[in-house]
Amino acid sequence: MTQAEDKKTVLKADDPFQFACHHDLPCFTQCCRDVNIYLTPYDVLRLRKALGLGSTEFLQRHTRHFLAKITHIPVVQLAMDEQTLRCHFVGDAGCTVYDHRPWACRMFPLDLADRDDEYSLLAGKERCFGLREGARWTVAQWLETQEVEPYVVMERAFQALMPPNFQPGQPLEPGLGKLLFLAYDLDRFAAMVDDPKWTRLYQIDPERLQRAREDDEEMLRLAFHYIRSQMAELLEVL
Ligand code: SF4
Ligand code: SF4
Repeated sequence: MTQAEDKKTVLKADDPFQFACHHDLPCFTQCCRDVNIYLTPYDVLRLRKALGLGSTEFLQRHTRHFLAKITHIPVVQLAMDEQTLRCHFVGDAGCTVYDHRPWACRMFPLDLADRDDEYSLLAGKERCFGLREGARWTVAQWLETQEVEPYVVMERAFQALMPPNFQPGQPLEPGLGKLLFLAYDLDRFAAMVDDPKWTRLYQIDPERLQRAREDDEEMLRLAFHYIRSQMAELLEVL
C-alpha cells in the first residue's frame, strides 16, 4: 500500500493496525520536530500542571496562540524551538512530559477522521518506522493504552460551548472567541472567581466554588459553565 493510500484508510474502533514506537528506530523523536500540534484547554491544564506553571505563563512560554482571522476561534499551538524546530519537551530519551503529553501526541500515529468514531493513520511507513513493526492493536486498544478518554470527554464539553448555529469557517464575534479563550487561560478565570463581586453576580454554589479552588479540572468545568452562560447572554444581544 502506498503512503497516500495508507493515509486515506478509515479505521473504526475494532480495526487493526501494526505499530510500535521505540528508541532503536531511526525516526525516534523525529515526529516531535517541526509539527503543528493544536492544544485543547485540557491539554494546557495537564501540561502546565506537570511543569508547575500557571496557565498564563505556560501559554506565553510554550505556545503560539491567537484568535483565528475569520472565525475568531482561539487557536493554541505547541511552540517549537525557533532554532532547532524541536518541541520544547523532547529529550534524547523521548518525551519529557510523557504522562501529561497532549491528546494529539497520545493519538499518534492515529488521527481523528472526518466522521465521529472514525480514525485515520496520520503518518506513512516511510516517515514513521513504527508502522513497520509487528505489534498489532485495534484502534480501541490503542486509545485505551494511551489513556485518551479524559481528553475526549473534556474536549466534547468544550466543543459543546460553540454557538448552536456555528459552522466551521463561518465568522464568530471576536468577543465570543475571547470568552472561549478563558478555558485555556484558567489563571485569569480563577482570578475572576476570587473576586467577591463576581461570585455574588454569578451566584455560583459556594461548595462548587470550593471544589474548583482545590481541583483544576473542576475549575475547568466551572469555566465551561461560565462561558456557556455568558455565551447565551452575548448571543441574545448580538
Ligand atoms: S515517527 Fe513513529 S515510530 Fe518514529 S518516533 Fe515518531 S511515533 Fe515513534
Ligand atoms: S509533547 Fe512530547 S510527544 Fe508531544 S511533540 Fe512534544 S515531545 Fe513529542
